[in-house]
Amino acid sequence: KILRVAIMGLGSYGSRVAEAMVNSKRAKLVGLISGTPSKVETWKQKYGIPDKNCYNYENFDQIKNNPDIDAVYVITPNSLHKPYSIRVAKAGKHVICEKPMALNEAEGREMVAACKTAGVHLLVGYRMHFEAKTMEVVRQQRAGEFGKTLFFQGLSGFIIGDPTQWRLNYELAGGGSMMDIGIYSINGARYMLGEEPIWVTAQEVKTDPVKFKEGVDETITFQMGFPSGAVASCLSTYALNNLDKFYLNGTKGFAEMQPSTGYGPIKAWTNKGPIEAEHVTHQTTQMDEMAAIILDGKKPLIPVDGEEGLKDLVIVDAIYEAVKTGKKIRLA
Ligand code: NAD
Repeated sequence: KILRVAIMGLGSYGSRVAEAMVNSKRAKLVGLISGTPSKVETWKQKYGIPDKNCYNYENFDQIKNNPDIDAVYVITPNSLHKPYSIRVAKAGKHVICEKPMALNEAEGREMVAACKTAGVHLLVGYRMHFEAKTMEVVRQQRAGEFGKTLFFQGLSGFIIGDPTQWRLNYELAGGGSMMDIGIYSINGARYMLGEEPIWVTAQEVKTDPVKFKEGVDETITFQMGFPSGAVASCLSTYALNNLDKFYLNGTKGFAEMQPSTGYGPIKAWTNKGPIEAEHVTHQTTQMDEMAAIILDGKKPLIPVDGEEGLKDLVIVDAIYEAVKTGKKIRLA
């Protein structure tokens, strides 16, 4: 069986996912949702999409009457993830939503509830959860090969260009670098250490308050403490390039990944040497695996469901609260 997917938001990442899906064995692009008719025209030709599977943001609720679409992949600016995902769920289609799943925990909970009520899956575009080298490091960590892992470092950042883009608009992005790239270090700390944080501290630095307006973070350093005693120390920034690195240290060994979350190939090595695995386009593997989750009930090693998305949002909320108050935030 094939998962028949419509992409909502024909932007740069939507294009990447569409290209990757061409090589997917389990997922196929069959529909489009866009506010730009010229893009729909180009995509229709390129991917052989029939007119009856093309929608815009006003009429896409009608997708409920379309038996040829199983799931909608929401790839819009962040603040639209919640309202659009809920509309997709109400139309009875499975939801695949890009990261960050929503702007905060409260919004994320609404999405989880809506998808539960509608009886549809809610999956978040955590492509690294299916990446072979990442999974090998996680397997070794779970098998105890690094001993007791007590330290994680996550560095996530790039210099952001065009100051008019939605990523620097609070209304659309819901924040700054943390929502966009810092979330990789949050998520990475959790899967590399295999536990959930119990406290968060964070500090913000802003060198350009004109480019990075109120609510849009340029740089945040943050720390997380875990039940085992492990600590994570992370950087999220829109002000420096070449920051895409994970480092995990345990009493018996270490793992290092650089690049750790870029489109690849990922490079990973441990105290025993390099980790080798074939590079497959992340989004191709992701769509194959997500089809297996939705169609066959497959359980991935690290979840990609709404509950997983919520765990990161709880931490994002705590980081922003820690920045604002200067306090150590305890997590339930
Ligand atoms: P983009 O700007 O290239 O594309 C966004 C699309 O949304 C555009 O086609 C735009 O027309 C459309 N859109 C719909 N309503 C809009 C509105 N009101 N305002 C502005 N645009 C609107 O952005 P992108 O880089 O494709 O990012 C889209 C989403 O994908 C974001 O949530 C981002 O975090 C996520 N993303 C994930 C990854 C990943 O590796 N998982 C990588 C890049 C982006």
